[in-house]
Amino acid sequence: EAKDSGRNTSVFFDADLEARLNSRLELQRDLHRGIINNELELFYQTKVNCQKTCVGVEALVRWFHPTKGMINPANFIYIAEQSGDIILLGNWVLRTACEKLLEWADHPERADWTMSVNVSVKQLKADNFVEEVSRCLNETGAPPNKLILEITESMLLGNTEAVIVKMQQLRNIGVRFALDDFGTGYSNLSYLQRLPLDQLKIDRSFVSTNTDHENSGLAQAQLTQSIISLGHTLGLIVVAEGVETEAQFHALIKQGCDIFQGYYFNRPVREGELP
Ligand code: C2E
Ligand code: MG
Ligand code: MG
Ligand code: MG
Repeated sequence: EAKDSGRNTSVFFDADLEARLNSRLELQRDLHRGIINNELELFYQTKVNCQKTCVGVEALVRWFHPTKGMINPANFIYIAEQSGDIILLGNWVLRTACEKLLEWADHPERADWTMSVNVSVKQLKADNFVEEVSRCLNETGAPPNKLILEITESMLLGNTEAVIVKMQQLRNIGVRFALDDFGTGYSNLSYLQRLPLDQLKIDRSFVSTNTDHENSGLAQAQLTQSIISLGHTLGLIVVAEGVETEAQFHALIKQGCDIFQGYYFNRPVREGELP
């Protein structure tokens, strides 16, 4: 009896697994075709200073699937990373963002805006990453000092030295770097000091608990304060992501945060809907 039901469970499980594998494979094929067929689109979310003046945007990719509609990056970036299409996707994002930067160079309000682009670990670790980025800048004619590449702590695992060399090479041509989602991953503070970074982006989880009225609120606020101070000690611009309320914005200003991003100011939108 027990054996039977065990086998049934496992057959059922296998069928379920197979279905999920098939839909994953289908999505993977769709994505490959989608990248080539121009189904990707860049949305932009503003980053503001404490006067709420826009100082730049972050490019956030969206996929408009022909039947499934808009898909968020959380649901397809990992697929692209597994299939290897992340290089194709990442290059498309870089190029599109650089083209936009060039367009904005003559714009009355946007000429000073920076463009932040998320980079995947596979892109960063590819041998020709530096060439890809510089080629993109050269071919589009975008100003390199307006481009900010966002990397995450987990990308520094393993071969950190090689990553530092690449970052320095890109920095030499003017490109800047931000450490994204800071505080959620593996933090080796001695590496942090050696990375040629310009910005530290505090993860939104700290921003949302910073103003909690629970008992933990005070400790959380001190934690956020410490991260901001750490960033400043390292000479970095501190950016808060995921700012959703006025209270969060004001608390972060008091704590010395430099730049703010979140739904409180703007959602990620198409270029035409930017302020
Ligand atoms: P991220 O780089 O940390 O981007 C911030 C995410 O938080 C974005 O989600 C943004 O829409 C969302 N967000 C912004 N403000 C708020 C807020 O006030 N509240 C809340 N709850 N969320 C907010 P999105 O666009 O879905 O992107 C998710 C992640 O996907 C990004 O996290 C980034 O890691 C990755 N991603 C996006 N575009 C690209 C890309 O072009 N290439 C790569 N490799 N990854 C990308
Ligand atoms: Mg980011
Ligand atoms: Mg982030
Ligand atoms: Mg985040």
